[in-house]
Amino acid sequence: MQSHAQAVVIGGGVVGCSVLYHLTKAGWTDVVLLERSELTSGSTWHAAGGMHTINGDPNVAKLQQYTIGLYNEIEELSEQSIGLHLTGGVFLAATKERFDWLKSMHAKGLYLGMDTEIISPREAADIFPLLDPDKFVGAMSDPLEGHLDPSGTTWAYAKAARKYGAVIHQQTRVTDLQQNQDGSWRVITEQGEIHTEHVVNAGGLWAREVGRMVGLELPVLAMEHMYLLTEDMPEVVAFNESSGLEVPHCVDFDGELYLRQERKGMLMGTYEKACKPWSPKETPWDFGHELLPEDIDRIAPSLEVGFEHFPAFQNAGIKQVINGPFTFAPDGNPLIGPIKGLRGYWCACGVMAGFSQGGGVGFALSNWMIEGDPGFDVWAMDVARYGDWATLAFTNKKVQENYSRRFSIRFPNEELPAGRPLRTTPVYDRLLAAGAQMGEAYGLEQALWFAPKGVVDEFSWRRSTDFEHVAEEVNTVRTAVGMMEIASFAKYTIRGSGASDWLDRLLTCRLPAEGRMTLAPMLNHGGKLIGDFSLANLGDGEYFIAGSGLAENYHMRWFTQNLPEDSSVEIIARGAGLVGLSIAGPKSRKLLQRMVDDDVSNQAFRFLDIRKLDVGMAPCLVGRVSFTGDLGYEIWMEPEFQRYVFDLIQSQGEDLGLRLFGSRALNSLRVEKNFGSWAREYRPVYGPYEAGMARFVALKKGADFIGKVAAAAEKENGGKLRLRVFVVDAKDADAIGDEPIRYEGEVKGWVTSGGYAHASGVSVAMGYVAKEIADKQYGWSIDILGETLPASPQTEPLFDPTAERMRG
Ligand SMILES: Cc1cc2nc3c(=O)[nH]c(=O)nc-3n(C[C@H](O)[C@H](O)[C@H](O)COP(=O)(O)OP(=O)(O)OC[C@H]3O[C@@H](n4cnc5c(N)ncnc54)[C@H](O)[C@@H]3O)c2cc1C
Repeated sequence: MQSHAQAVVIGGGVVGCSVLYHLTKAGWTDVVLLERSELTSGSTWHAAGGMHTINGDPNVAKLQQYTIGLYNEIEELSEQSIGLHLTGGVFLAATKERFDWLKSMHAKGLYLGMDTEIISPREAADIFPLLDPDKFVGAMSDPLEGHLDPSGTTWAYAKAARKYGAVIHQQTRVTDLQQNQDGSWRVITEQGEIHTEHVVNAGGLWAREVGRMVGLELPVLAMEHMYLLTEDMPEVVAFNESSGLEVPHCVDFDGELYLRQERKGMLMGTYEKACKPWSPKETPWDFGHELLPEDIDRIAPSLEVGFEHFPAFQNAGIKQVINGPFTFAPDGNPLIGPIKGLRGYWCACGVMAGFSQGGGVGFALSNWMIEGDPGFDVWAMDVARYGDWATLAFTNKKVQENYSRRFSIRFPNEELPAGRPLRTTPVYDRLLAAGAQMGEAYGLEQALWFAPKGVVDEFSWRRSTDFEHVAEEVNTVRTAVGMMEIASFAKYTIRGSGASDWLDRLLTCRLPAEGRMTLAPMLNHGGKLIGDFSLANLGDGEYFIAGSGLAENYHMRWFTQNLPEDSSVEIIARGAGLVGLSIAGPKSRKLLQRMVDDDVSNQAFRFLDIRKLDVGMAPCLVGRVSFTGDLGYEIWMEPEFQRYVFDLIQSQGEDLGLRLFGSRALNSLRVEKNFGSWAREYRPVYGPYEAGMARFVALKKGADFIGKVAAAAEKENGGKLRLRVFVVDAKDADAIGDEPIRYEGEVKGWVTSGGYAHASGVSVAMGYVAKEIADKQYGWSIDILGETLPASPQTEPLFDPTAERMRG
């Protein structure tokens, strides 16, 4: 075995082999793959080999499209058959809600360039002859569905990589990983040692163990999964003979089943409710090419539905039941990318649909390793979406929930209960007592809205039980004063002699003067948005940043990666060590003045001022800014003061009409101000000019900030897209994101977020459209739940277009 390689991939399943192939294809030929046993010795060998493009996240769907598009290439290059059957498929809905969901998937497909079609149950029965159309209300067809041979596909990646120069060592288990002082790695194996700059954890069923070698506890858990193979079925043979076609793929969501033809019979698999984790604490190293004992009782309820929905199965004999384990992250999406503070350690784990996603994962990760950026929007798969709070026990609960709900609908207003509450702030109980309906983001509980006794969210695609109550919260903010807990922000303290220079290089804006704040976009080297913060200069070389709470780990990874080596800058993620409350609305100044001794008049405490103030008896940091777009303040304090300040605000605000508001009201308020938000309007696929952030990109400032060259080019050529806001002629459902935007009937863009702007009394959608048509005034429409609805562009904010309220 050689003693050095540029990169070492650990694991020869479909994912590791795809990473290896993509690295070599992109020109890194000094790469090695190490496999403990033989290739495919983890979950790969017993997979059903099914593949499809649809995914709840459009960016994951794009990578799935890429994966399927790759198969001919690797088969040709490797000369290894992959047994590809591109049969097409149908997705079935037995309820109206599920049919609404299929319509939303189809709508997404329109702007992703997919060829899905909404069809009737009868039309579905023409495509998939085994179903009983009376059991369904609608369906969607997709020509890009099929299955392949899992082992052949893995070998095809491997052989193609070898052709490009990669080396594969089987029967070579990695037993330890040691990082050298210079950041390079010693990969210690049963057959010797390799020295390398990059290590890829593609350990599949053993990803946790390969993580633990470097002190990482990755949020991955394997679940048992069963599918059955029938004896030959006459209905299948008859269809093959009469149509000359294979029976295509089928997903029956309400039966929680997937089906496809296997030889002259069928394969039927299920994600059963009574699911079972496998090896929840540690994966045995001696597990290999063996199956787990079958347990038909566990999947019996799904099979019963299957026999009803697909009557031909009632007479079919079961030839074999396959039960094997494979891994999941808590939300079911892969975990890819680098790890904060571990230079050269890369993850390609938790890939639960290796044959739909493996190619895309390999492509994105190899881009990331070689170019420093995945080249796609991989937020939904980024390992950094979880923090240290995602423990083994949390993962166990969440993965089981995810598995058992794999084919269940998640409504846009539905919060999932497993593993909660985990992270709470001191005012949590007070919020609950006030009727808070809680949601979770980054493990932290936050109030979505406040319900009267006995009222809860009724899950729906349409406006629901919260509508009138959120309207009242919004109304309070616009007419009096509201209080919201701002737990969902990430907070960072930056200090040190190099802090100003460092921030100037990292952020596109000019640094604010002492005691002032500004909006601060952050770009990657390619000039795309990787952050939008509010940056405050607290004086004496200390800065305070607030940003998206979801992205805390993601941003800390970038911050630490870019810290100077001379220790002149210190950055601390404050996490729940700093908590906050926000007050907003025309009476918020009066309320604040009642609680502080300092003068907070408009002249003395201007818009975007920030300072340390004692609020009552509590030392706080108060900034005059509000995401509601109204007069408002963010008040930050250490957790031990939060309950006190909360009570003080409540008592002092009572006669001003104060009431609590939650994040749904905040959404309603910000959309009527055209304020974008992270992970919706601002993502690493958009440039700052496309996103309308030109004001905060200081190309003329002295510092050469990261992404400046690319940003200057975007300014010059105008980019491709424009963020636009529309008022939609919606009826009983508002845009939530991922709906297609049409211009003169043609799909020309997509919605990033939306909602009902209660104060303005209209439905709003924000989204990106092609630059060339972005300023057209007429001809727009947006599809919501299958209906194309007229939309008119809103060039200035619906509320307070001159920002008098915010600044006055
Ligand atoms: C019953 C069943 C049905 C499935 N059906 C489908 C389907 O229809 N479609 C689909 O897309 N997916 C399906 N899957 C899931 C699919 O199998 C996985 O997504 C895929 O196998 C993940 O591949 P991987 O490379 O990440 O992991 P694995 O296949 O587990 O590969 C990891 C490899 O790493 C090696 N390894 C680990 N640690 C070390 C070490 N320290 N040193 C050296 N080598 C190491 C292992 O030996 C193993 O070969 C199914 C899974 C099961 C169990």
